[in-house]
Amino acid sequence: MELSFIPYRIQCRHPFGIARSTHEYYDVVYVYLQENGFVGRGEAAPASRYSETIELVLSRLENCPTYFDDISNPESGLDKLVPFAGGMKSLEAAFSMAVFDIWTQKQKLPLYSYFGVEAAIAPVTSFTIAIGELDSIPEKIKEAEPYAILKIKLGTKNDKEIIDTVRDCTEKPVRVDANEGWDLQTAMEMCEWLSGKNIEFVEQPLPADQLDKTAILRSSSPIPIFADENCMTSQDIPTIAHAFHGINIKLMKCGCLLEAKRMIETARKHDLQIMLGCMVESSVGITAAAHLSPLVDYADLDGNLLIDNDPYTGVSVINGQIVLPKGNGLGVEVKNVSDLK
Ligand SMILES: [Mg+2]
Repeated sequence: MELSFIPYRIQCRHPFGIARSTHEYYDVVYVYLQENGFVGRGEAAPASRYSETIELVLSRLENCPTYFDDISNPESGLDKLVPFAGGMKSLEAAFSMAVFDIWTQKQKLPLYSYFGVEAAIAPVTSFTIAIGELDSIPEKIKEAEPYAILKIKLGTKNDKEIIDTVRDCTEKPVRVDANEGWDLQTAMEMCEWLSGKNIEFVEQPLPADQLDKTAILRSSSPIPIFADENCMTSQDIPTIAHAFHGINIKLMKCGCLLEAKRMIETARKHDLQIMLGCMVESSVGITAAAHLSPLVDYADLDGNLLIDNDPYTGVSVINGQIVLPKGNGLGVEVKNVSDLK
């Protein structure tokens, strides 16, 4: 089985601002496994918050063999490939997607079937309004017309103005993501202020190293609190479960699709609600996550909707509802970018 890869720059439709950074583009890497006419595809979208960069991912891949023999099932493929990721979760995720994509194509199965999932019950996804100029919010809300739920990025000096502006435009349910941007007092005031404003939950209000303070917030907040930066893998769940009502699972944080499934099972045991989220990614990574989405309570799989040069097609969103592709494997296809597979 041949392994190859290519970097690609995805361009944001609008500058993507969160509490700690703003980006006009992100660099991702596509990883391919090829054998007997089949192509398995994966995507790594490294996040600097987790000390992963495009340079590190590429240097790992440049030192990876280009041929692997005797890959007879997904487990043996993962055993051979994952060590070359050097612990970088975004690259583990890309390897895992490519392995499962080519394996399930060969088995003539859509990926979700492998996980025992019914495609018919995929959830509704939220659509993110990132931090930017206040006067751009009405236009962004108009663009979000097809989506039933909005995710609003906060963690700024004018958070209340942002929410007031959103509420002047729409009554749709809103999820708030502070991306570690508040301190405890601000978070307690904001959660109180946000209650009654049709807010579903608040994601990662405090920095990840303030778990004790997050537990205090959880005990008083009228709105559920979800972990993102505090919850990377299934091993984190027992430690943080007391401080949150739910978790945000992302392939780029946990790596393998099997680990994402393990996180879902562990979170259920701890009575946590579950969202499946993403980085800003193209349709390869988003589609891989979408195959697991029928297993969770909430989806925030809009990374591919926030860019304007997605080179792949895969999962689609119809009236806000995630619709999984019909093909075998991931079900993604390259559009018209000649050097991609
Ligand atoms: Mg988040």
